[in-house]
Amino acid sequence: MESNKSMLYKSTRSTESASYSSAQVIKQGLAVDGGLFVPDSIPTINSKDIKKLCSMSYIERAAYILSLFLTDYKYEELLYDCNEAYKQSSFPGGPAPLVRLGNSNVYSLELWHGPTAAFKDMALQIMPRLLSRSLVKTGESRTALILVATSGDTGKAALEGYKDVERTRITVFYPVDGVSRVQKLQMATQTGNNVDVCAIKGNFDDAQSGVKQIFSDPEMFKLLDSKNYFFSSANSINWGRLAPQIVYYISAYCDLINESKIENGETINICVPTGNFGNILAAYIAKLMGLPFGKLICASNSNNVLTEFLRTGTYDRNREFHVTMSPSMDILISSNLERLLYLIAGADKTAAYMEDLKKYGKYSVSTDILNKISETFVGYCTNEVETADTIKNTYKNYAYLSDTHTAVALNCAEKYTTETGDTTITVVASTASPYKFAADVYKSLTGNNSSGNLEALDDLYSLTNVEIPIPLRDIGNKTIRFNKTIEKNDMKNYVKSIL
Ligand SMILES: *Cc1c(COP(=O)(O)O)cnc(C)c1O
Repeated sequence: MESNKSMLYKSTRSTESASYSSAQVIKQGLAVDGGLFVPDSIPTINSKDIKKLCSMSYIERAAYILSLFLTDYKYEELLYDCNEAYKQSSFPGGPAPLVRLGNSNVYSLELWHGPTAAFKDMALQIMPRLLSRSLVKTGESRTALILVATSGDTGKAALEGYKDVERTRITVFYPVDGVSRVQKLQMATQTGNNVDVCAIKGNFDDAQSGVKQIFSDPEMFKLLDSKNYFFSSANSINWGRLAPQIVYYISAYCDLINESKIENGETINICVPTGNFGNILAAYIAKLMGLPFGKLICASNSNNVLTEFLRTGTYDRNREFHVTMSPSMDILISSNLERLLYLIAGADKTAAYMEDLKKYGKYSVSTDILNKISETFVGYCTNEVETADTIKNTYKNYAYLSDTHTAVALNCAEKYTTETGDTTITVVASTASPYKFAADVYKSLTGNNSSGNLEALDDLYSLTNVEIPIPLRDIGNKTIRFNKTIEKNDMKNYVKSIL
């Protein structure tokens, strides 16, 4: 593999030239001005490169694509880490299999065959290894203490990713009544010598603001430093989480070529169930690299702040928050949208939008900028009834069982095709196993509530005979290691106590 010229990074809000290395960016997470790190140029992939990638395994494709962005990691290091991250025992169904829905133009890109049955594994299985290496590369002598506030999926995926990774420790806080029983059991039974899980009496916002307070507490900073630790975050705004997500879109394109569904060079569309805008942004970066992607369909649930933005150019978070059956998309501030704004409108404008967002909870882009965004992005949204209908009809028509988030995307892809007549092959990102949201999936299929036994895992299995992912089987019989619940104001003391 030829060595690449070194890639530097900068903040989305800064007009200064790029000066951060990839290792620094992964270690630091967020720029000091509050912006997100972006590469100073986008590496390109031409049709010859795609042809080469077609003959590679997923792991080799991942190492190659990451090597274009993470230039202070050696190719051999990346290949080693990808081998560890995406090994067969972690992803028994393969890292990113592509399943066609009947004879339709829709392909489901299943990103949930990893240890926690949600697509967060695609990034969180590799990012901790990249962080661990970044400590050595940046001359950091301390150990990274990762604090996570989670509403469910991120916490478990981060725990699995960081467990027993050298020079890292992780503590996860979750709202005691705010996660599903499966999610709670997944976290309470976590193995590993560097992990901690603690429930708090409060909601997700309490957990999140508690973590933020600890992060910015000078006393904690000093205490940590004296014990040879520093705080780090597993949040989705870290470039180390975004870069690995670019890989599966390019890999899916290669798979379509290998299966003779498309010619090299043919255009495909991508549809992504979107929350924080990280996953769909990865598809956009693949497009900027040269992949022939046509439209990127941004799928939202009833929290349709992005649909409105993509249609009107105004982003307005001042709206009712809806609790839906696709909770990982229940989000009103999509952090990674900032990277799109930077790529289209530049740093000055992005800084101004973010200032408006902070002050007024909203901002507007000009018609010019909106038109540029609309050349690629279209926004659609799906309500709860439509989501349930889509789960039911997809199962009936294609014998394909989809989770609630994927169903939102399938419905939006269908709306797009109906509205535009565009029948281009569409890859839909499938972000969770249906078993992760079994109760809602069961109810969508049958109209009835499940018996309630472990979130309907068994009921859904009896009904469909679709295999339960290995990590979710027997979850009720695993040893509980963490069952502590604390007051929300005690989070700081808890962190002190474990140091
Ligand atoms: C996190 C998550 C999403 C949203 O992804 P973003 O990158 O935040 O847009 C969608 N579906 C599931 C199941 C998730 O866990």
